[in-house]
Parts: sequence; structure tokens; C-alpha cells
Amino acid sequence: MKILVVDDRKIDRESLMDLLEAYGYAVAGASSGQEAIDYLNNNIDLALIDIVMPEMDGIEVLKAIKAFRPDIDVILITAYATLEKAVAGLKEGAYDFLSKPFTHNELIAAVERVKEKKELQMAVKSKEDSLRKSERFLHSVLESIGEAVVVIDRDMKIVSANKGYKTQTKMLSEDITGRHCYEISHGYPKPCYLMGEDCAVMRTFDDGLAHTAIHIHKDKDGNPLFVETNSYPLIDDKGKVYAVVETIKDITEIKKLEEEKQKIEEQLIQAQKMESIGTLAGGIAHDFNNMLTAILGFGGLIQSNMAEDDPNLLYLKEILKAAERAAHLTQGLLTFSRKQIINPKPENINNIVASVRKMLERLIGEDIELKTILADEELIVMADSGQIEQVLMNLATNARDAMPDGGILTIMTESLNITQEFIRMHGYGEQRKYAVISVSDTGKGMDEKTRKRIFEPFFTTKELGRGTGLGLAIVYGIVKQHHGYVNCYSEPDRGTTFKIYLPLKSSTYSKDEESTLPPPERGHETILLAEDYEPIRKLMKDVFEMYGYTVIDAVDGMDAVDKFKRHKDDIDIIIMDVIMPRKNGKEAYDDIKSIKDGIPCIFMSGYSADIIGSKGLSEKDSIIISKPVMPDDLLRKIRHILNAKGKTA
Ligand code: ADP
Ligand code: MG
Repeated sequence: MKILVVDDRKIDRESLMDLLEAYGYAVAGASSGQEAIDYLNNNIDLALIDIVMPEMDGIEVLKAIKAFRPDIDVILITAYATLEKAVAGLKEGAYDFLSKPFTHNELIAAVERVKEKKELQMAVKSKEDSLRKSERFLHSVLESIGEAVVVIDRDMKIVSANKGYKTQTKMLSEDITGRHCYEISHGYPKPCYLMGEDCAVMRTFDDGLAHTAIHIHKDKDGNPLFVETNSYPLIDDKGKVYAVVETIKDITEIKKLEEEKQKIEEQLIQAQKMESIGTLAGGIAHDFNNMLTAILGFGGLIQSNMAEDDPNLLYLKEILKAAERAAHLTQGLLTFSRKQIINPKPENINNIVASVRKMLERLIGEDIELKTILADEELIVMADSGQIEQVLMNLATNARDAMPDGGILTIMTESLNITQEFIRMHGYGEQRKYAVISVSDTGKGMDEKTRKRIFEPFFTTKELGRGTGLGLAIVYGIVKQHHGYVNCYSEPDRGTTFKIYLPLKSSTYSKDEESTLPPPERGHETILLAEDYEPIRKLMKDVFEMYGYTVIDAVDGMDAVDKFKRHKDDIDIIIMDVIMPRKNGKEAYDDIKSIKDGIPCIFMSGYSADIIGSKGLSEKDSIIISKPVMPDDLLRKIRHILNAKGKTA
């Protein structure tokens, strides 16, 4: 503590200063009021001022000090004559006075009282400071956390809300403070528990424990927020809950993610279900095809041997017609199970749509208007145009059935970048550009339960004989085989939209030259025919021979290789089943090539290009045709290959 001694009499001033110094205080002296005032900028804690001084008396100095440095304490020194002045000085803010004469002890005691008072003041001040600091700290903690925090009193009114809450609700303090929490969060006129809602705050007031609840709150604009609220009690000295602190966590995003996850799982289950139905359907169709090939083939042979007026010709024709219908059905099943061979080429989706327009118009009839909205840009995808046409026909047929009283069928094409967001929302897709074909009708739509099953083969809501339930199964199969996606949006009475996503090919359009097949021609070459299913083998042998070819037949892959060894210089072409016992088609053909290269081969298969592809057949030295094989078709292909070979040879 530093003390300024103000006295015009040098002896008095210096003796006081010496004394104080002896007690360990820092001191300074001033011989007049003005000198004292000039000294005020220095570090002083206490001034000892003699009242009687010329020019400026002690009271005036006191006033100046209190005006400039109210923190400096003042002790006045007075003689009996100026006692009244000293008392007046107390009113002006002097801390104490000493009446002359005073002892050393009296002086030191007065100074020490000031010192103690100062220390006490300091202690209080630093306590206040740290309290203020910790308050500010708590406040900034509350304001910094993203979590919304409010304090609610027993009237369910919000006493205070942090920044997180204001951000969450998009409200300002004045919109919030003093208002009921149920009114702000829900727009309710009464507390939540009276509105049939769980209220964690109420429960905390009741039992003094922490509670949690899940709610849908509304922000200022009425947007719903999924929230998790946690209530904690604020308890007073008597153990009573006087307020509740509530944290409100926005879990809308978490909820969304959960729903997305569920969607992906559903998609996965759906895909697995379709896959297993596909395997089953494909297996049956495959066996049926072999049988139908025999029925149609032998039937055809009988027909060509029959006289025009044979009374049985009519029956035979009916048999063949029925078999053809059956073949059509198995074809549909194979398409669904993706076991059919497709011939993808770069195709502009817009052209495909344009080319089937006329046919679709005829299909849907006059009561339904067909609108096509095609993208300006070319939408090139690797597609089998015939199959995409089939997709459009099937969708149009369904749309027609859904609009018995007329309506509008809209086909739209566009390109779409499938984003991570899209994949998250739909549960499928790859991050790339797709061509999208939307087919919408204004028909009767369908409910959720129906919509979930429409792609299953044989699922139909149509009356017996009207629907086969294969239309959409075929669509599904074709789209999958094109590495695309199909989905359906529909609501009862609000129409239906199918969307098909096909991966866009980035390169430019180059349509392969269309191969127009010549009609079956007779030949004279030698064919090695390998087929394990006897009826087909027999049928084909007969047909080939009828057309002038020499046929060497083999019952399996191993037999084919043996026969080839023996006749390698006679054989011009090989016709071979892909799946055969002992050696499959690909293995047999590999062996044959090592014996003699360059003999073309036609593989017959009921399985999809990818299965064959994985078995390593390349299209360079062989072609693949799908079962059921129509003899005429096969004959044309044989001729085509042999003619081409003859030209290059
Ligand atoms: P089908 O037409 O032979 O019944 P699909 O596989 O083509 O078989 O369709 C299956 C079912 O899906 C239909 O029976 C129908 O209930 C429903 N469906 C398909 N397309 C539509 C559509 N555009 N509007 C309403 N329902 C449809
Ligand atoms: Mg249909």
C-alpha cells in the first residue's frame, strides 16, 4: 500500500512519512494541495491530508481526489479548531480523520483499518469477477453447443432458450421467452399431456427424475422436426423441482437415414425374391423349350408330309398353334429370368419410342390419347431394340387396361445423373448417367399391396383369361438384362407411372448394319451336330438332311470331339448345344479348334449371354442362338455363315 502525505509544514510531513516508512509502507509527500493533485496519476492507495493549508485547504484536496481517483481513500488530519470541517469531510467521502495530537499507534491503527478495508474490497471484487466470468463461461457453453436447450418453469413457460433452440425453431428470443413450451413446439392451446402426448418435462416436475420423449415439433414455418427431448430437474434448497432444463435434439436426419436403410433392405429382399422366382421359372421354361422344339419340329415335318386334303391336317394345325402359344409363354418366362439371349447395340431410345408410336396407338385404341415427349439430346444406350419395344408394348397394354374409359398415356424420355443422394433415397442405382423412360397413365392406379407384387410372374389382378401376369415380369427381366432399373409410382385413382432407367452409353451413335437374313436355301455341306437331347437331335438331323446337308451327329461333347477327329476334313460347320454331359459345348469346341482351327460353330442355348460369356465363348468364331430354335431360322443362319466363309475362303 502506498500513502501520500499532504502537509505544508515540512517537519510534520516528514515525521509522518518516516513513521509510516518504518511500518513498511511506501510513501510520497506533497507540500500543497496542487502538488497533491499533480501526483494523482501515480499509484496511490491512501492520502493523509492536513486540513489547514494555505491556498487550497484539505477539504478541497479531498474533493479533487474523490473526483479524479475515487479509489483513493483519504484520512483527514485535523486540529480541534477544524473538527467541524473534518466531520463535513467525512460527508465528502473521507474515510476517517485523526485529531491532533494523535499517537503513533492511533495513526497506524487508522491506516491499517484502511488497509483491511481495501483487502476486503479486493477479495469481494475478485469473487464478483470470477462469478461473472463463470456465468459468462456457462452462457457461452450453452450458446456454443448445437443442441437446443431451454429452461422451463412450473407454469410450463420457457424462461430462457439458447442459440441452438433459436436456430432449431427459427425464432428470436422475444418469440420464445415467457411463452408456453407446448404452444411454441406444437401450437397447442393446452399442455402436451392434456393433448394426449407424452411430456418428459411434466414427468420430471412430478418425480424429480430425468426423462426422455420423442416428439414431432414444428418450427416457425410449420415444418415438422423429429426430436428427442431430455428433461433434467433443477432442484432448490428444499429439494423441490423449481424448473426443468430440456435439451431438444433434432433427429429428423437420423430418422431419414433409418428409413433409407430400411428401403435398401426391402429392395434387397425384393431383388432376392425376384431372383429365386426367376431361377425357378427359367428352369421350367428351359425344359419346356426343349420339348416344344420337338413338338413344333416334328409337327412341322408331319405337316409337310401331309396331303392338303388330309382330314387330320386341321387337328395338327391346332396342335402346332397351341405349341406356338406355349413357346411364346416360355419365352416370356425366360425373358423374366434373364435367361434369354439379347443382342444389344447402341440405340437411341428416342428412335425406339418413335418407331413404336404407331403400333402403340393401335394397341391403346381411340379413347386414349398418346403423348410422347422426347428429350432433345440423343439418348444412346446399349439395347436390344426389339426388347425395349416389348417393354413399351407391355406397359402400354397395362395402361390401356387401367383406362377403360379413356385417358392419356404419356411416354417421356430424358437423361438423369444418378447421384449418391438418389441412391440413398431409392436404394438402387449406380453413380452415372442414365436414360429414363417414363410411361404414365391417368388410369385407376393401384394400392401399395398390389404395387409390391406387380413384377412377380403370374401376378395379376385381372379376371381369368384376361391377364397372364407375365407382362411386367417380362419388363422386369428385360430391364435387368439391360443393367437397368424399373420402378413404379402409383396411387389408387391417381394413375400410374413406370420409370425405366437404362445406363447411357457415352460414345456416339453408330447403328450396326442391319443383317437382313436370306430365306432358307438348300446346301450340300457337312454338318457336325452335337445335341444330347435325342428328340431335338433327331429332328434337326432330319431337317438338315431334307435341305441337302450331310449330317454327322454326336450325343455329347466328348462324342463330338471324337467324331470331329475322324471327319475333320469333311466337316464345314458345327451346330452344338452349350450344356451337354461329359464335355460342354465350349470345352468340346476348344478341343476341336486344337485339332483344326477355323471351323465355324453355332451354339444353341437356352441360357443368357452372361452365362455363356462366363464360360468363355467369344463371338468371333461362333454365334449363339437361343432356344427354342426354329428350324428355318437355323437353316438361314447356317447358310449365312457358310456363304460368308465361302466368299472369304
Ligand atoms: P397382367 O397385365 O397380365 O395382369 P402384368 O404383369 O402386366 O400382368 O401386370 C400385373 C398387375 O399389375 C396387373 O394385373 C395390374 O393389377 C397391375 N398393373 C400393371 N400396370 C398397371 C397400370 N398401368 N395401372 C394399374 N395397375 C397396373
Ligand atoms: Mg399386362
